[in-house]
Amino acid sequence: MAIIKECRAEEMEVANRTQEESLAYSQPEIKKLLVTELWAVRGKANEVRVKQVASQSKLPLTWLEKMPAINGESGTEKLRAERSVLLLRDRTSPFIEQFQHPIGRCAKFYKLTAYNNCNFWCEYCYLYLTFRTKPVSTHFINYEKMYDEIERFDRSRIPKSLRVLNLGELGDPLAVDYITGFAKHVIPFMSKHAPRTRLLFLTKSGCVDEILALDHGGQSIISFSVNTDKVFQQLEHRTPSPESRLAAAAKVQKAGYEVRLRIDPVIFYSTWEKDYTSLVDKIFQFVRPARITIGEYRPSNGLASHISSRFPDSPLLRVNKTLVREGRKLRYPKAQRIKMFRTIIEAIKKRGADVEIALCKEQPQIWKAVGLDMKGLLCNCLG
Ligand code: SF4
Repeated sequence: MAIIKECRAEEMEVANRTQEESLAYSQPEIKKLLVTELWAVRGKANEVRVKQVASQSKLPLTWLEKMPAINGESGTEKLRAERSVLLLRDRTSPFIEQFQHPIGRCAKFYKLTAYNNCNFWCEYCYLYLTFRTKPVSTHFINYEKMYDEIERFDRSRIPKSLRVLNLGELGDPLAVDYITGFAKHVIPFMSKHAPRTRLLFLTKSGCVDEILALDHGGQSIISFSVNTDKVFQQLEHRTPSPESRLAAAAKVQKAGYEVRLRIDPVIFYSTWEKDYTSLVDKIFQFVRPARITIGEYRPSNGLASHISSRFPDSPLLRVNKTLVREGRKLRYPKAQRIKMFRTIIEAIKKRGADVEIALCKEQPQIWKAVGLDMKGLLCNCLG
């Protein structure tokens, strides 16, 4: 059995430069911080819609003459430059594309890219690497092109399990919905114009009030990513607490939406066992999810330098040293992640025997070792 090095709870408590940003913010305060101004590039965005978003959000709007460049700052200043603004522009590449996992560890689900990047500041976010050359958080506002693609997708002959458009692969689709109002355009569109297709919103946001009364036709799944309070406090800056997300999950469930949860990334630290078991308890106090998908912390090769340029004291930089290389990712040694997954799965089974449980991007041998059946693969991103 591989030697498991432990990342102590105290090590997770290292104060870093963003520490003061992370805690004690109420929901209205988070909203004030997330986006402080809007940008739009002249000639590359639908002016009418840009002005609508600016007027409804009451945020200052700056017109740029060209796309913003990479900023050379580091630490909190870099984060502010990239993620405290929201760039509004038209999307020229397709909104709908098929996701292809580089080594086949995932189904080829479809993603719908309405946002590039995110305004939350999670330390483990893989989007720092994905958008290293275009780091400014962006919302694509040429909805007519998107609607046209959704209607064509709906008419195509795609198997039912893949008829889900994942809005959470390249951003958090509800994080700044109170600014863009995007969800209230796209959710009712589906029941009227794309009755065979579902949408999947993967989010850490608690801002769901605007979508509760929409005619969703059972076609939108709201999937909340939750984690332990320790992981939230240390690593998920500017996000609502896990409890706020679960309260939001309860609201959307009451409004008839299908609710799924992701416990991802699972992180090993000294009190992980107790903390993840308590998280499962808390989940069932709030909501009965249809499905829970679990994933471990698995940074891509190359993500570490993007974390350290923003969070120089991040505890993840020490966690990374305890991981092993598997393909293009660093992962916990197999025996260690099997133990973590089993603990969480047993806790879920005790409280919700009817809840579907899945792993994210894991090998068949890991599914088998934790007692899950991979036949008829059901995970967060599939129907
Ligand atoms: S919520 Fe998701 S997309 Fe947003 S910063 Fe956190 S990990 Fe990244």
